[in-house]
Amino acid sequence: MTVSVNLEEAIQAPFGTIFTDKMAVSRFKDGAWSPITLEPYQNLSLPPAAHVLHYSSTCFEGMKAHRQSDGSVSTFRIDSHMKRLHQSAGLLCLPQPEPEMSKKMIRDNIKACMEWVPNPPGSLYIRPTLIGTLPSIGAAASPSTEALFYILLSPVGDYFRTGPKPLRLLLDDDSLRTAPHFGMAKTGGNYASALGKIMKARQAHNVNQVLFAPDGDVQETGAANFLLINDRQIITRNLDSCFLHGITRDSVLTIARDLGYEVSERAISVEELLDHIKEGEAALSGTAAILGGVGTIIYKGEEIKVGDGQIGANTNRLRQALLDIQQGRSEDKHGWMERV
Ligand SMILES: *Cc1c(COP(=O)(O)O)cnc(C)c1O
Repeated sequence: MTVSVNLEEAIQAPFGTIFTDKMAVSRFKDGAWSPITLEPYQNLSLPPAAHVLHYSSTCFEGMKAHRQSDGSVSTFRIDSHMKRLHQSAGLLCLPQPEPEMSKKMIRDNIKACMEWVPNPPGSLYIRPTLIGTLPSIGAAASPSTEALFYILLSPVGDYFRTGPKPLRLLLDDDSLRTAPHFGMAKTGGNYASALGKIMKARQAHNVNQVLFAPDGDVQETGAANFLLINDRQIITRNLDSCFLHGITRDSVLTIARDLGYEVSERAISVEELLDHIKEGEAALSGTAAILGGVGTIIYKGEEIKVGDGQIGANTNRLRQALLDIQQGRSEDKHGWMERV
């Protein structure tokens, strides 16, 4: 079957709704992964008793590949993403795909779908997905010994199609996004756990996201890490199990060091945040949007502007520096790009 690719249409569609026609698949059974196959993108067939549907044995990754000026395609930090997937699978007691296998699946998949990779500012969003398929509702307290691992590829346009807009956040100093021992797993349950709070905040305050700061400890939003920035330094929370260890976060910190910023990874209190944003900048980091400037924070019913309420100059500078590496306009000093 040949599918004519209408990339123009694909990148106009809402983020993450259009997929390439092939996906790389491997299944885990009897202690081993099956040879990688390229299968048509189509509905899955699962036993209704599949472990994932009852006990949420699932995790995923989110990363990108970028078209370079010579027409080739390169992934961004694929090793870090595959390492994180391996770690998430471990936290969920799922069979852990070795990073080398996951990498091969992604490369094989992209090679078979090269015509689907848009030119910048578009990119190919990559969503490796792992689910527990053991048909047993009796396995509430035991792992799924069978699993399905597949790669979704989604051509995406510029995340900020109409230009970046300053974000509005509700600062919630009471709620947890997820259980503190599980924040570093990239797993559906954590999103489910945060969703109610996010929906409430959207209704009440028309915000984009909730910034979770339980007991005044500023952690992250529902789907992105949080950074305080000014002309001199970047401050973000130190890594522990309570939040997702973003690869964009790490990349921004690395680039910031290269550019001479002082990088501080430590606890951030609500008081410090409120003090910082009188003059400084705040931003969210994640693969999809890279670095989004925060314009307004709502705290205890009060709307507080971050600086002048616009996206800060340092935020824009760091975002552009990372994009320049991804799209091949500046030197890849840290070996992040890998040609497919
Ligand atoms: C994926 C994710 C991030 C961002 O991680 P990146 O590796 O930068 O894309 C941040 N927070 C949560 C909860 C996430 O799921």
